[in-house]
Amino acid sequence: MTEDDGTAADAVARTWDELVDTARRTVADGLVVGTSGNVSARVGDLVLVTPSGVPYARLTPADLVAVDLDGRQVRGVLPPTSELPMHLALYRSTGARAVVHTHAVHATAVSTLVDELPPVHYVTGTLGGTVRVAPYALYGTRELADHVLAALTDRTACLLRNHGTVAYGATLEQAYDRTAQLEWMCRVWLTATAHPGRAPSLLTPDQLAEATEKLRGYGHHPH
Ligand code: 13P
Ligand code: ZN
Repeated sequence: MTEDDGTAADAVARTWDELVDTARRTVADGLVVGTSGNVSARVGDLVLVTPSGVPYARLTPADLVAVDLDGRQVRGVLPPTSELPMHLALYRSTGARAVVHTHAVHATAVSTLVDELPPVHYVTGTLGGTVRVAPYALYGTRELADHVLAALTDRTACLLRNHGTVAYGATLEQAYDRTAQLEWMCRVWLTATAHPGRAPSLLTPDQLAEATEKLRGYGHHPH
């Protein structure tokens, strides 16, 4: 093994640990129940993915599952997530380096009510703009992947009708944070709409554009 091979192997092992931590966090934070949802991350031309139907608490370094960008399994024996078509579609068509899919309660509830989440909060700006709802299709299908890809045009997160959320980012942490922010905003909207005869005020396109611009510099602290 060359030094480069060793460095690449380290990056893969480290990313797998982060991926398992992220998947466990989705359960701990109540964004999924049981083995629902899935997480992936890209390292070079490899895509590491959670296996299908395995409780995240049980995953060890030896369970690492990786596929290439065509979906051929190149590492591990457990079957990859059933949502592989969706994850691969995002890696092929966007700059995603990590993808998180959940069945978060408030987000899933909102997905049954509207075609897009009304912009009740400026955090909408961190997701690229008003969050769309991808039309329903059976889980794990190419059709669902196509709907999600369309809903994510110029966005980093979307809702899946009667199903849940998808968010991507440059890192697992960013994909996870976007998921949590989306779930939080869905909760805000549901809370605000729970009052008969009253409708929540929404941000205007100008207010949203202004916040989106300001958010570009948010959290970028000099070291
Ligand atoms: P997997 O266990 O196959 O990842 O499926 C969970 C899921 O959320 C499907 O949409
Ligand atoms: Zn799902």
